[in-house]
Amino acid sequence: MSTVLRIAIQKSGRLQEDSLKLLKESGLQFSNGRDQLKAQARNFPVELLFLRDDDIPQYIEDRVADVGIVGENVWIEKEKHNELIKRLDFAKCRLSIAIPRAEEYTGISYLKGKNIATSYPVIVKQFLAKNNIEAGIHEISGSVEIAPGIGLADAICDIVSTGSTLLSNGLKEVEVVLQSEAVLIATPSLEKGKQALLDQLLFRIQAVQSAKNNKYILLNCPNEAIEKITSVIPGMKSPTIMPLGRPGWSSLHSVVNENDFWERIGQLKSFGAEGILVIPIEKMIA
Ligand code: ATP
Ligand code: ZN
Repeated sequence: MSTVLRIAIQKSGRLQEDSLKLLKESGLQFSNGRDQLKAQARNFPVELLFLRDDDIPQYIEDRVADVGIVGENVWIEKEKHNELIKRLDFAKCRLSIAIPRAEEYTGISYLKGKNIATSYPVIVKQFLAKNNIEAGIHEISGSVEIAPGIGLADAICDIVSTGSTLLSNGLKEVEVVLQSEAVLIATPSLEKGKQALLDQLLFRIQAVQSAKNNKYILLNCPNEAIEKITSVIPGMKSPTIMPLGRPGWSSLHSVVNENDFWERIGQLKSFGAEGILVIPIEKMIA
């Protein structure tokens, strides 16, 4: 029997689309049966299992799946024997404590003796212990944000992305408990063949992520500016430089990081760069 890496991803919800997208961008092809439980990649020894995100850590611990994609919040909350292998840079959100807007928040000691409703009792307990606060935790599985309004709790701890849900329930965010994003998790000791497949997949994911964080840049510049421009956009090894038809001018090609892109562009212009073109990169292997 040949080795297959079994990857658990969310069946439906906020993680599903981006998880599939990442695997597809990593070159894995799947036939798109939406309502199925499993899917086999056509061109790589990978099998996908579609599960509820909350169940994924348990399935990995039970070795039904080898690796999985979940929110960091779920990984921590479930306290299973899974390792965090890689942060995936999507599904970014935070887990925060919120209280009724009319209340005056006096700092973390405000929470002493209060009752906090949450779907994340483990994470809240850790947070309270770290801050030396004794408070009650009321575990509920959904619609946490209505708990204060109906008198079930004094405060909540829940996922916040924009804050509009809090606002419409008369709440305000007062403490960030955890910053979360999608993560790839795995059993601590994969058998050799599976580990080799995972390493290949990680290599591909890395290439996809680097490509997303960088852009290919082309520009024209006077030859005197080449040195200065190279110091700003050194590229992967060094830029490609080609003479232009116009004497004294060159075309320079390089790679620029997304994060300091606009700052770099400003510098390049001030050095005399013209005709700047910026192009997305599909894969990038250093
Ligand atoms: P399931 O039916 O699989 O149990 P769910 O309702 O628990 O789904 P989703 O709402 O789909 O879960 O959220 C899945 C994960 O996505 C969360 O655990 C969290 O890590 C992340 N997430 C949740 N809300 C947001 C948001 N507003 N923005 C970005 N990421 C989010
Ligand atoms: Zn869930």
